[in-house]
Amino acid sequence: MAFEGLTERLQKAMTNLRRKGKVSESDLRQTMREIRLALLEADVNFTVVKDFVKTVRDRALGAKVLEGLNPAQQIVKIVDEELTKTMGETAVPLNKSPKIPTVIMMAGLQGAGKTTTVGKLALKLKNEANARPLMIAADVYRPAAIEQLQQVGRQIDVPVFELGTDVDPVEIVRQGMAQAKENHNDYVFIDTAGRLQIDEQLMDELANIKAVAEPDEILLVIDAMTGQNAVNTAEGFDTKLDVTGVILTKLDGDTRGGAALSIRAVTGKPIKFVGQGEKMTDLDVFHPDRMADRILG
Ligand code: GDP
Repeated sequence: MAFEGLTERLQKAMTNLRRKGKVSESDLRQTMREIRLALLEADVNFTVVKDFVKTVRDRALGAKVLEGLNPAQQIVKIVDEELTKTMGETAVPLNKSPKIPTVIMMAGLQGAGKTTTVGKLALKLKNEANARPLMIAADVYRPAAIEQLQQVGRQIDVPVFELGTDVDPVEIVRQGMAQAKENHNDYVFIDTAGRLQIDEQLMDELANIKAVAEPDEILLVIDAMTGQNAVNTAEGFDTKLDVTGVILTKLDGDTRGGAALSIRAVTGKPIKFVGQGEKMTDLDVFHPDRMADRILG
């Protein structure tokens, strides 16, 4: 289960507060200390934690919550609302081009889940919007990558455009786009190469692919289990590519929750989907309010 540590600690902080009945300023300070530690232990970005704690405290004091009825309950409500706000308030839908095809470029480190997620998203659009997507295999550095995308394509019955590993990825994308136009595909997914860490060469290649494909959406695929590193990675990619959204994968194995809680606040970019398993159907729209409820347990 995701976030179990954070949920447990926040619940404990809230239970302690509820036990008080009447809540004093010093009780509030103690609760905020517990929340702060819980968030830091969940690997939430330090600045995000600082801002969060300050906002909750200021709101509680400003609204004279402590003097009113059910102060503990009201503080829980403020925490819930601020968690939601930190994660972006509302779900943000995929960008859609006014004329076909809508081009969605995926970027991310190797192993983050790009290829799997391309398949999941293509399937989702196929099932929910009757889409006719084409997936372009533009990762030429890992020979198995093309075969992996083809395997995904067969699984979800979506065609894959590939030119092997000897052609420049930018050229592959150019030709893939031409094919999509010819075939009237309404969505094009570009599966790009990843590396173990961010490097200049990869970033230049992604920037060149972006220039050729003019994507409507650049989705950064980020492994939630990497916590703070996920946030640094997101910042690195975003600086170079100006991404339009994030997909957080492996939330099913993320016991801490730091990435989910930090990425929006640090990068300003919305988390649009979350991957919650290895199956092709394990992709969900990210709803900040539902996630906040889940975190609070
Ligand atoms: P890529 O290198 O970025 O293309 O990553 P892959 O798509 O090959 O994914 C790497 C591994 O992560 C594979 O074993 C996937 O099955 C797994 N994976 C991807 N998304 C998720 C997810 O949401 N949950 C879980 N548990 N595993 C995932």
